[in-house]
Amino acid sequence: MNLFAWLLDLIYPPKCAFCGKLLGKDESDLCGRCRKNLPEVSGSIKRGEAFRQCWSVYYYEGAVVDSIHRFKFGGMQQYAQVYGRLIAMALLRSKVEFDVLTWVPISRKRRRKRGYEQTYLIAKTVAAELGCACVPTLKKAVDKPPQFTKKGAAERRANVLNVFQAVHPERFCGKRVLLIDDIITTGATLGECSKILRIAGAAQVECATLAATQYSDK
Ligand SMILES: [Zn+2]
Repeated sequence: MNLFAWLLDLIYPPKCAFCGKLLGKDESDLCGRCRKNLPEVSGSIKRGEAFRQCWSVYYYEGAVVDSIHRFKFGGMQQYAQVYGRLIAMALLRSKVEFDVLTWVPISRKRRRKRGYEQTYLIAKTVAAELGCACVPTLKKAVDKPPQFTKKGAAERRANVLNVFQAVHPERFCGKRVLLIDDIITTGATLGECSKILRIAGAAQVECATLAATQYSDK
């Protein structure tokens, strides 16, 4: 550990990104208790259209909800590194194959307001962990209310319709794309983004998120 990291640890002792408890010497990112007890998603989730499946780490419950809330609205952008490492591990475990890694963008207006693009920060860590590039493939041209303000599946689909555009299609044309987001709920956002990528030439799209809601359309 270099001196700067040591000083940082002294001033801001590392805490679990989920429950907020101080981490022990042999713990990193999350405490042993959360590592053991957080609700893991086993296998992949098929929800939404135009992508093959979504690989998620945890169900969106309890401490996972609190953590993502602090990450998105409480300025805890450093959680992106924890989330990115967890997603990368899940992808490695499941031997997910892809050629181009990208993310679901937020609008410029929201990025200005929040000060960071949370999905890009996560994707950047996943890419670093897996030793690949993080490539922009989409932009959100229209600012719409966040998806969590919309309830039903149809309403959520309508809220993301025609708001994304493909950028630099030559970078992913004919390739297998891995699309990163923070949460999958109905799959409307990931489905819409995947559709745009497929229309622009992506051979296939797989998705990965930190969390998945226990959502059922039935
Ligand atoms: Zn914890």
